[in-house]
Amino acid sequence: MMQPPSGLTPPPARTLAPAMTNALHQSFDSLVVGGTLHTAQRSFAADIAIVGHRIAAVAQPGTLARASAKHVIDASGCDVLPGCIDVHVHLALPFCGTTSCDDFAFGSQAAACGCVTSVIDFAIPSAGQTLRQAHEAWLAKAQGQSLVDYAWHLAITRDEHLSEIEKMVELGLPTFKEFMIYESEGWNSDDARMYRTLQLMRHHHAMLLVHAESSRVLDALIAQHHTPEQMRKHGARLHPLTRPNFIEAEAIERAAHWCKVTGGMLYVVHMSTAEGAEIVRRVRSEHAPLMAETCTQYLTLTDKVFDGPDGHLFACCPQVKKQADVDRLWLGLHDEVKVVSTDTCSFTRAQKRMWWNEAEGYGDWTKIPMGLPGLDTMVPLMYTLGVQGGRITKNKLVELCASNPAKIMGLWGKKGDIAPGFDADLAIIDPRASKIVTPKNLQSRCDWNPYEGLQLAGFARTTLVRGRVVVEGGEPDESLRGHGGFLMRGRPMLL
Ligand SMILES: [Zn+2]
Repeated sequence: MMQPPSGLTPPPARTLAPAMTNALHQSFDSLVVGGTLHTAQRSFAADIAIVGHRIAAVAQPGTLARASAKHVIDASGCDVLPGCIDVHVHLALPFCGTTSCDDFAFGSQAAACGCVTSVIDFAIPSAGQTLRQAHEAWLAKAQGQSLVDYAWHLAITRDEHLSEIEKMVELGLPTFKEFMIYESEGWNSDDARMYRTLQLMRHHHAMLLVHAESSRVLDALIAQHHTPEQMRKHGARLHPLTRPNFIEAEAIERAAHWCKVTGGMLYVVHMSTAEGAEIVRRVRSEHAPLMAETCTQYLTLTDKVFDGPDGHLFACCPQVKKQADVDRLWLGLHDEVKVVSTDTCSFTRAQKRMWWNEAEGYGDWTKIPMGLPGLDTMVPLMYTLGVQGGRITKNKLVELCASNPAKIMGLWGKKGDIAPGFDADLAIIDPRASKIVTPKNLQSRCDWNPYEGLQLAGFARTTLVRGRVVVEGGEPDESLRGHGGFLMRGRPMLL
């Protein structure tokens, strides 16, 4: 809950950034007053002045003249966070024979109402496309649609893409992605390509993200179980049954090895296992430039979800694991797990039903579109189960969901902090407010939710993206659709 203001020591009024020294003598566009600010380092009562799209000043409460502002936002009794960054989303992604139902319009509304002011998607070239063409295809999807700022990692799916890396880094796209699975989609990279890519990452000060699952053994396990008898007997439970923890652990071990010997920066996406976390911790201690993220589903759900009648809805990739993995990943947030993201890839009930064979009366788990909605609930889950649950502080939440993502993904200096010169991306949370998760309560287009029925605090009362109020009273301002812009990013930081 809200920390008592009496327990806080107000900091000295912050000095202004050099370019902003005249700000105090000018009128402000907006003031955010009366709130308790939370950065990755500390919590303190302060007011925020905004000029244009940036923060102009952070000052002791009451020291900025209200009359000088066109717009005053009262944040009394509220938490004020830097806008969070979900570095792992798939909006309108063609996948598993359909297209994920949250596009940049709806996905970004979900983001903004969930305290997220920037999203990073994955531009995946379709057959024969260059990285630049994939970048342009994703620009076409996002421009004019998104309420929040956006960027993407570029998926390297062919050897020819390696020659484009230098140019893409120059264009402000310094992060790349390789899949160790998805051979049938034509997306997978083998060890040789991963090794060569990591050499280039080192050379160009870029970073490779890896989806680490062991493709060949996974395919063997799927083939062993892909019979009508097994599918009738186990249903959606075949999803976790064919993906034991070693499928992820072996792939992380191998990728981490190439990271260590090349010195190329590597970031393991959506890490879901205790074993994976142990490997990343060990290889980091051997001075490899290695980091990992986990997603909210791996901190909150277990594979018991597959036992229910709607079990197939929960198929995501990798799938949710056991309680021991959940517990280990929470511990990892204080060590090798640097970022919490969502891997948002929403599919409706009708889309998920693609697995069902009506004539045979059973489902084929390999045909379930894999992915979960998540943008609405990332920060509320971390706020409710993490902060209010006593597992992390508000500062740690900001570190995992805003500051570290900004640093690691090349956005630091613009995003991830509340300080003069940073973009005025702010999420204001009323800690007394909460709501029960239902699809109707959320912005996602998805007609079901993995957290349905949970009472969560930590939704945004007010959200600002570069100084504009895009959410007020928990509702998105749809007239600002298209306010979000493409983010050119700088060098990724190793944490
Ligand atoms: Zn993903």
